[in-house]
Amino acid sequence: MTAENAITLYLKYSGNKSVDIRVALVDCDGVLYDSMKNHTRAWVKLMKKNNVKCSRDEFYQYEGMTGANIIKMMFRRGAGKNLTDEEAWEYYKVKGRYFNELGEPEMMPGAKEVLQITKEAGLRNILVTGSNQPSILERIDSDYAGLFEAERVTGIDTKNGKPNPEPYLRGQQKANAKPGECIVIENAPLGVQAGHASGSFTIGVTTGPIPEKDLYKAGADIVYPSMTALAEALPSLLEALRTTQL
Ligand code: CA
Repeated sequence: MTAENAITLYLKYSGNKSVDIRVALVDCDGVLYDSMKNHTRAWVKLMKKNNVKCSRDEFYQYEGMTGANIIKMMFRRGAGKNLTDEEAWEYYKVKGRYFNELGEPEMMPGAKEVLQITKEAGLRNILVTGSNQPSILERIDSDYAGLFEAERVTGIDTKNGKPNPEPYLRGQQKANAKPGECIVIENAPLGVQAGHASGSFTIGVTTGPIPEKDLYKAGADIVYPSMTALAEALPSLLEALRTTQL
């Protein structure tokens, strides 16, 4: 898919003649940090300790859901237990401890360049994540210093996790921008679904085992194989977003 084709298709189905992109709504896990491996290991450890059946790779499919919802779903399906919200959040704290024990995940190669390019192009970068892990949210302030706006959407700001569009709609609200004024940068199928449903041009990046076609199926307007590849393509993509008209 060329950038021009992707944008033309987006303009057609979104009902816009052209777009004026002012904001980048940026996901965290799997986009800013190579953290999904550690999340997966922490999830599997929690499930094993509680005798809940699971497979390792399935957690990539749930990325973006709230922690409590993942836990309730898994305990119901894998152990026949119905947890209350309070119980689920207690287990989520334990999962957070296991995650922290694995050490700090690496910054995603290319992510900083992507944010520098959007910022230099005049876009406001806003973080949109379902995560509540304070450890990683604090790191963003130093690792990506000066690149993000103070406004951010985290797990505590939204009732519905991805694939519900609420996190990205909240991001649009916080940016005081219309859907057609934002791009979304996402790595997970449920996150892509949320971005697409929010009405913004959604860029998928395959940074884990999920194949490109799954992100297109989830509604991505265009997909890149890494954040480094996105950084390389971004200046011409932003230029095409400025100039492509119906
Ligand atoms: Ca993600």
